[in-house]
Amino acid sequence: EAYTPEKIKQMIKDEDVRFLRLMFTDLLGTVKNVEVPISQLDQLLAGKLMFDGSSIDGFVRIEESDMYLQPDLSTWMVFPWGDEHGKVARLTCSVYTAAGEEFLGDPRNNLMRVLKEMRAMGFSDFNIGPEPEFFLFEMDEKGNPIKKLNDHGSYFDLAPMDLAANIRRDMVLELGRMGFNVEASHHEVAPGQHEIDFEYDNAISSADHIQTFKMVVKTVARRYGLYATFMPKPLNGVNGSGMHMNMSLFDKDGKNAFFAEDGKDQLSQTAYYFLGGLLKHAKALTAVCNPTVNSYKRLVPGFEAPVYIAWSGANRSPMIRVPIARGKGTRLELRSVDPSANPYLAIAAMLEAGLDGIKNKIIPDDPIDRNIYSMDGQELKSDHIEKLPATLHNALVEYEADPLMEKAFGTHIYQNFLDAKKLEWTSYSQNVSQWEQERYFHLL
Ligand code: GLN
Ligand code: MG
Ligand code: MG
Ligand code: MG
Repeated sequence: EAYTPEKIKQMIKDEDVRFLRLMFTDLLGTVKNVEVPISQLDQLLAGKLMFDGSSIDGFVRIEESDMYLQPDLSTWMVFPWGDEHGKVARLTCSVYTAAGEEFLGDPRNNLMRVLKEMRAMGFSDFNIGPEPEFFLFEMDEKGNPIKKLNDHGSYFDLAPMDLAANIRRDMVLELGRMGFNVEASHHEVAPGQHEIDFEYDNAISSADHIQTFKMVVKTVARRYGLYATFMPKPLNGVNGSGMHMNMSLFDKDGKNAFFAEDGKDQLSQTAYYFLGGLLKHAKALTAVCNPTVNSYKRLVPGFEAPVYIAWSGANRSPMIRVPIARGKGTRLELRSVDPSANPYLAIAAMLEAGLDGIKNKIIPDDPIDRNIYSMDGQELKSDHIEKLPATLHNALVEYEADPLMEKAFGTHIYQNFLDAKKLEWTSYSQNVSQWEQERYFHLL
């Protein structure tokens, strides 16, 4: 929706909005909020609202720390939970430098840059439909999550097993009031695990939605004394949480460019090349789509998460699936992504990989329509099926080896992301874990 400054001012009056929450996302995917009283609105609209960029992960050094927030008026939204202090509205912002230029370290600005490349190639939109999964845990008196689940339901269960159904319904209602079109919500396979799917949208809006979604889910959970976590693999021995990404390219006349009536399986050549690009760059992409140490505890056999680089029409074990919908709904589903990914970075990298496939006419290998988990080593080898990186460290090696990543991110983000993630790996690898103590104390 198009909001003008006048319309926003009117809504502020009508709804008694007293505070503006300005949202942007740092390099690691954390939402940053600056809340200002409504008296700052004119400053903000003029792009003159300053903040200190040096305190944001992966942004800038102290010497160049003055940054400005430029609101994207189309993201205007009044939070439904007004209280006695007056209502709060949010605006998602882009970050600008003191010199008035788009800051290239802002993941949202970067995604816009990649979308411009896409438009120069004749497409209009990169549409994303995400399927975020999460767990609900109980909290202690201090508000810290404890490893106690609040229910024992499982996939598609109904009450009374699914005690969290009411909470989920509350989340869906709250999301609806915030303009989300929720398509489905259900209990997931693991106890305490849930999924809420919302309608696809263009890349920027979907990334914005994912960030807002996480905030709403956490806020509603807290109301029930629960802690919602998007950690990819919070528990041993049960499924982890993914965030499957359904994606499609639309061309200038609003048609789905992945659909071709007369194509093989009704997929266009563009779809096959895009798929070829995703497969070619899959290893490097993993560093961005699965950016935490914990992400790799999810990408193991037996828990519905992908382990191998392959694609398929029907079968759900491969990394990429082509859901049966055709026409406007024709899409590729990347199943490796998890919700710890920064959505702006993940979407930019996926798009850059797909566009590379189109530019260089990369033809994907044949689909694997058998269950990959049950194939033995010899079969995997003869079908040239490779594995995804098994650790964050291995994924970072692939990230550094693939020139596509710097193209997808620009030098600032490329380098800062790499540095931050290397530090994370070093910290992890130097930590002596409980598993090691239990395994080796008595044995050695
Ligand atoms: N939780 C699974 C994952 O880790 C996905 C399960 C599903 O949606 N079928 O990706
Ligand atoms: Mg799903
Ligand atoms: Mg699911
Ligand atoms: Mg799915």
